[in-house]
Amino acid sequence: MSTDRNTADITYSELVKLGLQGIAANILECERCQLNENATNKVIMRGSERPKVLFIGEAPGKNEDEAGIPFCGRAGKILDELLDYMDLEENEYAIINTVKCRPPNNRKPTHKELKTCRPFLLAQIELLDPEVIILLGTTAEQAFCISSLNWGEAVITPEGKHLMKLYHPAALLYRRSLIEQQKKMIDRNRDLWQKIQ
Ligand code: SF4
Repeated sequence: MSTDRNTADITYSELVKLGLQGIAANILECERCQLNENATNKVIMRGSERPKVLFIGEAPGKNEDEAGIPFCGRAGKILDELLDYMDLEENEYAIINTVKCRPPNNRKPTHKELKTCRPFLLAQIELLDPEVIILLGTTAEQAFCISSLNWGEAVITPEGKHLMKLYHPAALLYRRSLIEQQKKMIDRNRDLWQKIQ
């Protein structure tokens, strides 16, 4: 699908009007920041278009860049274990990232890159319209929140969404001890997604 204007000009509210397919088309054509230069594939989303729970990760890594799918590498296996532990079915969740192109050498996205890609992130959140938003790590928190959250402690956003920060799956790869802590955070908050019909 082709867009009829330069993606550098498009705003969040214009993106929302285009719908998820239109946002994807704009991401594919986007050259707003330098991350575009090294991206093999733009990484847009995985999962349901009507999710109960939306996970927001940091940025595509090597495997994700090659496949164009979020969380399909080693960290993705940890995330899949997390999804199992949460008892979420495939049609109940979606996964997106703060930026859609892989940063070189898997570095964190800069503040400027997060800000530049933010209209895509916010428009995706608006259209996916989840009941629960789970930020995976502090980069997702920086991209989405104006104030910092406590790990595993759910708050309500002004739009009435439940919002919570959990550890990024990549952090659990290297510190397996955090997995038990993560499970306790999930156990404390199960009602948030299990009560939703
Ligand atoms: S990271 Fe986002 S803003 Fe930067 S080029 Fe990719 S899609 Fe565009």
